[in-house]
Order: sequence, then structure tokens, then C-alpha cells
Amino acid sequence: MGEHQERAERALRLAEEVGAEALLVLSAPNRRYLTGFSGSAGVVLLTPRRRWLLTDSRYLEQAEREAPDYEVRALARQVFRQVADLLREEGASQAAFEADKWSVSQWRRATAEAPEVRWIESEGLVERLRVVKSESELAVMAQAAHIADEALAQVALILRPGLRERDVAVHLECKMRQLGAEGLAFPTIVASGPRGSLPHGQASERVLEAGELVTIDFGATFGGYHSDQTVTWALAGDRPERARLREVYEVVRAAQAAGLAAVRPGVRASEVDRAARSVIEAAGYGEAFGHSTGHGVGLEVHEAPWAAKAPATDWELQPNMVVTVEPGIYLPGLGGVRLEDTVVVTPDGFRRLTWADKGWREW
Ligand code: ZN
Ligand code: ZN
Repeated sequence: MGEHQERAERALRLAEEVGAEALLVLSAPNRRYLTGFSGSAGVVLLTPRRRWLLTDSRYLEQAEREAPDYEVRALARQVFRQVADLLREEGASQAAFEADKWSVSQWRRATAEAPEVRWIESEGLVERLRVVKSESELAVMAQAAHIADEALAQVALILRPGLRERDVAVHLECKMRQLGAEGLAFPTIVASGPRGSLPHGQASERVLEAGELVTIDFGATFGGYHSDQTVTWALAGDRPERARLREVYEVVRAAQAAGLAAVRPGVRASEVDRAARSVIEAAGYGEAFGHSTGHGVGLEVHEAPWAAKAPATDWELQPNMVVTVEPGIYLPGLGGVRLEDTVVVTPDGFRRLTWADKGWREW
């Protein structure tokens, strides 16, 4: 059985657990996970006997090629009517749908176009399968992370005062593309000097100055999968806030090491957060660390498991889950530090996907 066929069967079994005899999937990452189809539009319908991928004319040929385990059909204008007719062919009168993904207007259309279908709410059903990666997914993710690491090494060669944050981002992005990235995992964050206190400070026109820290948070996409890593690098030179930021750096570094050390099977994702956060709190910077410690990565850059204080679902880590560990300290007016690695849970701990040295580095 092919990998995608197996995923479809497992998804359908989860749908059966919520009382459904079929499953309708509209979300893009779930569609790609189930089918292998990489196009931007399409609908997946799973029943016990058949698997359909409906897509528009731009993608029919590509869908046939990428999703050989599926019956590919042209998407009708009234897609929910089309789905209802396919369900009737299979003798089904109801189907699970992604209640956490649909918009209000999609719900209105579904109930108007297919009034006879009973829509059964499900949440995070395919996502539950996605949280534990297969070896083939991990191989693709390692490649995405490798591209990003190599590109960062190129940035290390040019980093100096006088560059704009944008110059750093463009260089990094260009190198990632040259090295085979399909695109960016997310808009590149380059936050220098006082902008370092913005956890998501996208690269601006600001010019880097001697003695400042620069936080770079970036990632590549490859094979549909994302990478995610953050470094904070120092430019040589003296500034009044330098000693304080150096101290903060070592606190974040210790917190990141503690978070990573907590990663192993059987540990709750919230315990990873606790391990990192307690180091920052003990150093008196608890208030300056507002976000959660980490997140899963895969077909989405942010997905389960959530290494947060009190996540809605507190996943127990299992081998082949992927998680980031990225504590930070942000001091408005002064700057900030964040260090992030993405790791795979292994039977006895973790292994890295991202490899840039997280020790203090000065240019
Ligand atoms: Zn990141
Ligand atoms: Zn991240």
C-alpha cells in the first residue's frame, strides 16, 4: 500500500470514530498530506471504497501525476453538490468535515448546495496523523533545514555594520532559493539593536550598527515542508547595553539547552516549555518571555505539538514528532535575544534538524 493510501485509510478510521462514514477535506496542508498533490486548490473526499481528489482545470494533469492513489475529477462550480452526488453513489448520507477550518460562507454553501447531507463536525483529525512524521517526511524536512543552514553560513560571510536588515534578509532568501528552496517558510525576521525586542520584527530598512545584536529567524520550504531556526548574532563593538545583552544571551542559551534536554518520548510538550521558562524566570526575566517555547513543524510552520504553558492539547512527545525549542528575552528600548532549533524526538531524546551553533558569536 502506498504511503498516501495508508494515510487516507487512517484518516477515515478517525472519521469513523466521530461517527462519520466519509471524510471531506478542504484544508491545503491536509489535502497535500493525504494525496501528495501540491497544487493550491482542491477537495479530498474519502469513503470506505473510494478516494477522490477534485481540482480545477489548471491542476488536473498535475493531480493525476502527483496523486496516483486517487480518482481525480474536475471540480464542479457547486462543489458541495458534487460531493453530495459522490456520497450518494457510495450510499453515504453523511460526512465528517473540518469544523475548525471552514469559513461561515463555506458552511452556508454546504448546507444550501447539499441539504440532504448530514455534516459531522470534526477538529484536527488529519492533523493528529501529521504530528508523528514518517521517515520520508523527516528526510524531506532534514533537506529543508540543511538548505537553511547552508544559506545562513553564507550570511555569516557578509554580516557587518552598515548593512540594512533587508540586505541580510534578501541575501539569506536568495541563497536559500539557489540551494533548492521552493520558497520561504515565513517572512524572514531580521531584528537588530533595539528592534530585537520585537519577537516578530520583520526585516526593515534599519541599518546595523557596531556593537548591536541581530536576531535572524528564518526558514525554507522544500517538498512542501518547512524549516525553522533562529540565531542571535553580535556585531563587534562597544555599546552601553552590551554587557546586559550578553548576560541575557547566556540566560536564553541556558534556557534553550534546558528545553532541549527535556525533549524525549513520554514527556508532555508543556514540560518542555516549563524546562526552558523556569531558567528564564529564575534569572528574573520571566516577564520578558511572553511567547511559548516551541511548536511542531511540518507541512505548516506552526502545528502540533505545542510546547506552551497550557496548550489546548498537551501532546505527549513520541518518536518522530518534530518540535522547536525557541525561548527568548525581549527588553523594550534595549533589544532582545531568541535562539531556536528544530529537533526530531528519538527513542532516547532528540536529534537536530537545524545545526547553526547557538553559542555567542561575534562579527
Ligand atoms: Zn522561527
Ligand atoms: Zn518557530
